[in-house]
Amino acid sequence: MSITLWIVATVLVAAALIYKRASLAMFSAGLVIMFAIGSAIDIVGPVLWVILAIVLVPLNLAPIRLNLLTKPILSAYRKVMPEMSDTERDALEAGTVWWDGDLFSGDPDWKKLHDVPKAELTAEEKAFLEGPCEEVCKMLNDWEVTHELTDMPEHVWQYLKDEKFFAMIIKKEYGGLEFSAYAQSRVLQKLAGVSTVLASTVGVPNSLGPGELLQHYGTKEQQDHYLPRLASGDEIPCFALTSPEAGSDAGAIPDSGVVCKGEWNGEEIVGIKLNFNKRYITLAPVATVLGLAFKMYDPDNLIGEEEELGITCALIPRDTKGVEIGRRHFPLNVPFQNGPIRGNDVFVPLDYIIGGQKNAGKGWRMLVECLSVGRSITLPSNSAGGIKSIALATGAYSRIRRQFKLPIGKMEGVEEPMARIAGNAYLMDAVTMLSTKGIDLGEKPSVIGAIAKYHMTEKLRSCMDDAMDIHGGKGICLGPNNYLGRGYQGVPVAITVEGANILTRSMMIYGQGAIRCHPFVLKEMEASAEQGPEALKKFDKAVFGHIGFAMSNFVRSVFYGFGGHRLSSVPASDETRKYYQQMNRFSANMALLSDIAMGKLGGSLKRKERVSARLGDMLSYLYIGSCILKRFHDQGRIKEDLPLVHWAMQDTLHKLQEAQLEMLANFGGVGSFMRAIMYPLGRIAKRPSDKNDHKIARMLMSPNDVRTRLGEGQFLSPEGHFGFLEQTLQDVIAAEPLYDKVCKAAGKRFTFTQLDQIGAKGKELGVLSDDEVALLERTEAGRLRTINVDDFAPEDLLAGKAAFDYALKNLKKGEAA
Ligand SMILES: Cc1cc2nc3c(=O)[nH]c(=O)nc-3n(C[C@H](O)[C@H](O)[C@H](O)COP(=O)(O)OP(=O)(O)OC[C@H]3O[C@@H](n4cnc5c(N)ncnc54)[C@H](O)[C@@H]3O)c2cc1C
Repeated sequence: MSITLWIVATVLVAAALIYKRASLAMFSAGLVIMFAIGSAIDIVGPVLWVILAIVLVPLNLAPIRLNLLTKPILSAYRKVMPEMSDTERDALEAGTVWWDGDLFSGDPDWKKLHDVPKAELTAEEKAFLEGPCEEVCKMLNDWEVTHELTDMPEHVWQYLKDEKFFAMIIKKEYGGLEFSAYAQSRVLQKLAGVSTVLASTVGVPNSLGPGELLQHYGTKEQQDHYLPRLASGDEIPCFALTSPEAGSDAGAIPDSGVVCKGEWNGEEIVGIKLNFNKRYITLAPVATVLGLAFKMYDPDNLIGEEEELGITCALIPRDTKGVEIGRRHFPLNVPFQNGPIRGNDVFVPLDYIIGGQKNAGKGWRMLVECLSVGRSITLPSNSAGGIKSIALATGAYSRIRRQFKLPIGKMEGVEEPMARIAGNAYLMDAVTMLSTKGIDLGEKPSVIGAIAKYHMTEKLRSCMDDAMDIHGGKGICLGPNNYLGRGYQGVPVAITVEGANILTRSMMIYGQGAIRCHPFVLKEMEASAEQGPEALKKFDKAVFGHIGFAMSNFVRSVFYGFGGHRLSSVPASDETRKYYQQMNRFSANMALLSDIAMGKLGGSLKRKERVSARLGDMLSYLYIGSCILKRFHDQGRIKEDLPLVHWAMQDTLHKLQEAQLEMLANFGGVGSFMRAIMYPLGRIAKRPSDKNDHKIARMLMSPNDVRTRLGEGQFLSPEGHFGFLEQTLQDVIAAEPLYDKVCKAAGKRFTFTQLDQIGAKGKELGVLSDDEVALLERTEAGRLRTINVDDFAPEDLLAGKAAFDYALKNLKKGEAA
């Protein structure tokens, strides 16, 4: 064996051991064997053995390693890592790590993902979706809600209370529905397809709020008192955290609760004097009980030694003296109940604190824990439901609406946004399926919740833009006949609430993800915060594990860069195989880049929001890709769905790749070096092709199984806009051959308008039956309703005081006459 061959063989053995994440002892043994072979063939002499010993002995002998290596690393680490604030610690420790941890491993276990049980509904949940949920969709007229009443009508409110829509999360023992997270998601999806006001009103009490907080942290007395009343709708809750001075920085609320003596029911007691000014609070104008977050102080040490107890959550009945409530904000013409609440010297007993006095100061932790669950369900489901309905509607509309003598959906330019809407509808539903299944399995996925909230609401925004573009003026002119405008107007609400999106992307996803999901970082941080020999040992284990992990991801990234990912084993042999393999590659890349970013920037990484955002994007797209593959797998790998899977995976992987490249382009010399290693053969992920877009657009324009699966669970009864469009789509398709027949018989190419007259012509020429003529008449009526928009007498558009003054003026005129 030549020297070169031995060197190459030794490097390959070392690389293979690192790739496979062999233990330090195994890795050392591998090198010793290679050196022994080298000695046997006279390549390795004593000098090389001494060098090897100098490297391996301290690494493998724990006492030497701890003193010689780990101690200095630990003290350097402590200098670089900033102190964590209590709120940061609470946010980090809240929730659990699930599949997001695998994605951070650089080596996701796809079988484990496939083995996650499929999300399914119980018979009771199905009955609710087909019964009360369908019914309330029929009852609601969104134009009446958003324009005429700026609220839901009383009978709809009552129906929601009676049917326990506000009690989906409340346990059965308290009279609630106790639905799975997946069922809640399906209910919200259906409602969101009909009305944003309806979906928001139902979403909020089932998300973060008194119900959720009481079930987790309430005292028995609080649970027994409130939960049955919340379940029956006798109490309407809201939750007030946001203040004018503290929006995104919610931990900085200035609202205070000072422990003091005061009078309560004629007796002097120790209680809390609250002063607060909250805004943007959903359901506040109609709420009967307020969940209130405030900072608690005990300056006279009436309940303990601590003077500043921290953020605390309490339940305050609406009619408590000093509470000002009832005024409304007007969120972008999507007038769900939302408004300010103020409190001036509101005195309440200590047992108004959720969980009682022992929970004073624990409010932040309670909030972040509950938020991780709610954030995975409400807004992602509302967004997915909205886009599922709009995907079907856009497909139908683009077949019904013709320009240049063609359905507009057949124009290549329109195919592109249509494919985006359909591909995203598939993807968004996939994300809600996996995320809610995680919750149903007992997870509290804080990182996944942030990913789902950010990306689903951003996709809602881009798909709403696409749908508006395709509908042209039809989407713009508001009125009872417009099924897009209010959803479009409501998008910024979804973007802003539950963690405004820029902040969520820039700080939360990766900020939590890096520390929570990384297999070693949290362990290092915890060990470095402790003292003594045990802490040193823990740190040693974490830091050397971390080094091995980073080396493995480096070797994998180099190997995959040259196409080695195509050799990685994955549990799929169909057209999706390449996606699993690309995900393996990107997972190793992300884990490596994450370590490089943390190594280069240390504690300042949390201020480098653009680096954090792009690393967060990588983690997010890996998660989204997993959801798509899981959905395809769970639904039986249906071949006909592949165009949607291709679109969703290609779009996701392409965005992942671009996030990586953008990060590298902004990362100086290290970035250039890493790009050379990770992309020696150039980009690997392509955007969805025009050919695939074409297939999707065609699929979306006519009834078929793929399209039915895409819109599964949405409100499609003919009473609603979308059901009507579905009927008209079917009619148009049935009318096309009849129209052709009449044109042929008449020897003339008519335009595809005035179908009733074409029917009459067909009858006259004797080529159409009465039924066929009736079909053409119905199609024409449906076609006109689909393409027409509303118009109004000018006075009908007057709102509020102007409308009142106008009515009064007319009344006076009438009286005078
Ligand atoms: C319709 C509606 C309903 C709501 N319902 C409730 C409710 O029921 N209860 C409740 O307590 N609150 C509620 N909110 C409040 C909501 O949670 C806040 O609006 C949200 O937290 C953002 O605060 P802000 O609007 O003051 O924006 P700001 O905090 O002023 O943020 C402005 C912009 O700056 C960005 N930003 C801020 N800090 C950073 C950072 N560090 N890095 C990057 N970007 C940053 C944000 O992402 C945002 O884009 C509601 C809000 C609305 C509009």
